[in-house]
Amino acid sequence: MSSPVSLLDFTFAGIGERLAVDGVNPRHARPLWGALHRELSVDVENRDDFPAPLRAWLADHFGHDVTLDRPEITATTASDDGLTRKLLLRLDDGAEIETVLMGYRGRTTVCLSTQVGCAMGCVFCATGQMGFTRHLRPGEIVAQVHHARRLLRSLGQNGPRNLVLMGMGEPLHNYDAVLRALDIISDTGGLNIGPGRISVSTVGLVPAIRRFTAERQPYQLAVSLHAATDEERSALLPINVRWPLEELLAACREHAATTGRRLFFGWTLIEGKNDTPSDARRVADLLAGLDAHVNLIPLNPTAGYAGRTTGLAAARTFQTVLRTAGLACTIRERRGIDVAAGCGQLRATVV
Ligand code: SAH
Ligand code: SF4
Repeated sequence: MSSPVSLLDFTFAGIGERLAVDGVNPRHARPLWGALHRELSVDVENRDDFPAPLRAWLADHFGHDVTLDRPEITATTASDDGLTRKLLLRLDDGAEIETVLMGYRGRTTVCLSTQVGCAMGCVFCATGQMGFTRHLRPGEIVAQVHHARRLLRSLGQNGPRNLVLMGMGEPLHNYDAVLRALDIISDTGGLNIGPGRISVSTVGLVPAIRRFTAERQPYQLAVSLHAATDEERSALLPINVRWPLEELLAACREHAATTGRRLFFGWTLIEGKNDTPSDARRVADLLAGLDAHVNLIPLNPTAGYAGRTTGLAAARTFQTVLRTAGLACTIRERRGIDVAAGCGQLRATVV
């Protein structure tokens, strides 16, 4: 027998199709969907309010060929300022991932993991330093949003308002599961987080970016750039050897031309490596003509990389060069560094 499938892996349409295959009217998908993604209920078996055919279907299948992902929170750490919370989640096979909640003026952005570890090996990233264990299933990505929303509800808050796929893993390496999860998360009858508020960050998997473009995926795309020459980029991001800057930028321009949407670029600032005004000018040349927003991320410390972070003054100079060249550019606030919840620090350890 094949292994059971989680109800959280299904899209709304998928539940309807599955019910129909089993001879149940697909309109009964609606109450089940509401229980799962609006109430965030984890008990679908003892529901007197469900219609009888749905109750009968659950009695036949739940716990056998259909289950429910319930990653457990094994630790919650809050940063000293209380604005960042890191959840350590244990999956059903014992693997661990992290989800980070970041509060900004009453609005919360949640940073989701898409894999256990990462295969891309970027030298300054703690997740890359731990290597790749496995892809997450759609339900394991959706469950992270459930946990975040439950936590916010318990604090009397709404949200999350925005999602960034910038936790552990390379989202486009796990393309199908990630896009299915986003379909589930953005469903207006469920969690209802709009596609424009969801940002997918990639290290630069060119064929996957092309597919994302061709499929007209409605989510924001962020590309991690970090260097403006192939030699420098390949030294930081091994994937650049396979898909160098010229191909990456061509895929970016194709995305911009096809979707008409602004592209986001990540630039981790490393002292003496990629943080000088002349580096900034090369970035401006590379992105010339694109509607682009560059996010500068001062390097966060990780055990496996000795590089040092750029000071605020140099970051501001870098920003000014890009802005003068007509690019949008912000410096990302450093968040949650004291609890190792900053960008690139996630490796499932309890601090
Ligand atoms: N795999 C995807 C998304 C997760 S990483 C990607 O690489 O884009 C999210 C962002 O954090 C990326 O831009 C990544 O380059 C950056 N990052 C990784 N390690 C970092 C570190 N130690 N300090 C600051 N940013 C880091
Ligand atoms: Fe993976 Fe992104 Fe870390 Fe690179 S920066 S190792 S792609 S998670």
